[in-house]
Amino acid sequence: MSIQIQEGIISHVTDLTKTAKEVIITLADALVCPPGSFVNFFIELSGAPVRRAYSVVNANAEQKTVTFSVRHTLNGVVTPEFWKDDIIGRTVRVMGPLGLNTADKLSHATVHLFAYGIGAGVIKAIAEYSLQNPTVTTMTITTGSRNEEDIVYKSYFDEIAKDNPHVTVKYVISDPLDQSYPFKGYVQDHLEGLSFDDSDIYMCGQEKACNALLEKIKATNPQNTSFFVEAFH
Ligand SMILES: Cc1cc2nc3c(=O)[nH]c(=O)nc-3n(C[C@H](O)[C@H](O)[C@H](O)COP(=O)(O)OP(=O)(O)OC[C@H]3O[C@@H](n4cnc5c(N)ncnc54)[C@H](O)[C@@H]3O)c2cc1C
Repeated sequence: MSIQIQEGIISHVTDLTKTAKEVIITLADALVCPPGSFVNFFIELSGAPVRRAYSVVNANAEQKTVTFSVRHTLNGVVTPEFWKDDIIGRTVRVMGPLGLNTADKLSHATVHLFAYGIGAGVIKAIAEYSLQNPTVTTMTITTGSRNEEDIVYKSYFDEIAKDNPHVTVKYVISDPLDQSYPFKGYVQDHLEGLSFDDSDIYMCGQEKACNALLEKIKATNPQNTSFFVEAFH
């Protein structure tokens, strides 16, 4: 797929959680971004373009929009812009699709998906793709977040788990005071019941969290397993 650079307009910004927003950029021409890909996003700030990478949430269709989800970074340069009232209508540029961990590389009937925080956007795109794939017979989704309010795309994950018997979802909450779910602490401490042999393992989110999970899974010595690590830094 050839990489394009296109101008676009920020056309929609909606709340996902208190600290996360979904952003839609309307482009002049159609762009196809495979699930698991990201775009480089350029926005003019103080007269100079600033670049950040954002993973694509609405993937695989030829469309004149790009959607990504953004977590507000305190003291960040770019993310506070999405919380400003005048963000709608701003002209930006996107370069993409980029990235190596694209869904077309998944090959197993069992898919284990792990999302940390805003990494849930990528996991949603991969889950949507895997749901369309009739050879996938087991899909597990595990998310890690501070509390229930911070679970991004929870209603989507709940819905697909309800409608598809081969999909299960588990939410791990690190805030000890949040009593919403029984799984407390870190994702890597709640791998019970998952068999990693003959599977695709896709994880997305903070680099530190992905590395800790990867180490824990690899220590189980899984056989015939493909790993996809989409780490944000
Ligand atoms: C492949 C890829 C995909 C990504 N996908 C997403 C995504 O889908 N959604 C998403 O929200 N993010 C994603 N990211 C992260 C994103 O690109 C940005 O890094 C993130 O949004 C923060 O940008 P920012 O400008 O707000 O923060 P930045 O200004 O980059 O600051 C980041 C942090 O560094 C600190 N910092 C900055 N400058 C200094 C300094 N001089 N000294 C000390 N500390 C400093 C800031 O305080 C802040 O905590 C992705 C990253 C990669 C690499």
